[in-house]
Amino acid sequence: MITSCPFCFSTQNVSTVFENTYFNGKIFEYRKCLECKLIYVQPFPSHDDYVAMYPTTYQGEINLDTLYRNENSKIIKLINQYSNKKKLLDYGCGNGSFILQAQENKFECTGVEFSNELIISLSKQFNNVNFQNIIEFENKNEKFDIIHISNVLEHLINPFEVIQNLKRRLNDDGIFIISGPIENNLSLALVFRKLFFGVRKYFLNKNNNHAPFHIFYSNSTNQSLFFTKSELSELYFEVKEIAWPFPSNLRDSKGLAKKLMYFIAKLSIFFSLFNKKLGNNFIYVGCKKKS
Ligand SMILES: [Zn+2]
Repeated sequence: MITSCPFCFSTQNVSTVFENTYFNGKIFEYRKCLECKLIYVQPFPSHDDYVAMYPTTYQGEINLDTLYRNENSKIIKLINQYSNKKKLLDYGCGNGSFILQAQENKFECTGVEFSNELIISLSKQFNNVNFQNIIEFENKNEKFDIIHISNVLEHLINPFEVIQNLKRRLNDDGIFIISGPIENNLSLALVFRKLFFGVRKYFLNKNNNHAPFHIFYSNSTNQSLFFTKSELSELYFEVKEIAWPFPSNLRDSKGLAKKLMYFIAKLSIFFSLFNKKLGNNFIYVGCKKKS
């Protein structure tokens, strides 16, 4: 089956240094779209693959380490900068770490997740939050002032469709705040990763056995164009470098390879301070295009 680019729908693609991965009895290959340069997995995971990829244990416990706290505080500050409303949807709320902080900041929260088990467990942990699984959510028409989507788009085979559907659930003066990886955007760490992947793939003939969690690896241009094509108006766009997928502290960097990765990540973050285009993560704020 031919898979088309999730951003521009072209079917023309070429191989890349990114490793093939064997998962659920299939080979998944990361290829580059010749039209828009987005890197995407071929074939797309099937429903069966999705079920195998996301067991209920996937989301882990609420993580309140400072990394997430700072990240979430920054998002909340941006929301308050572009909106004075309080009705918030966290689409793909995961373990609820963002909702926890949004509640502290007096937002009225709804959280949506794919897994029903997760929704049940979140409902027990939080008071005054409306948690819905994806089917319950899609059967409603309720609208929101703020739609927060973090580390979600890259997991979807139909990101356009999802944004179009969410636009219908956003009030006319509402905002989207969206963040996530741009794994193919230039940074020092990416140069190291590509060298490493290239050596493994072409010289050592190695393959991976991880699930194809990320359907695509974008760069900042891909990501900006995606929002423009979704008929959203950009209010804010930031590119930044974070340690992930390299370790973010020395304490967790066991062994020489991990220590090296830790230092590369540090150096890469340092370099990105001098050029705003360098980085592996983005934060976007946008609103519906006024017609
Ligand atoms: Zn494309």
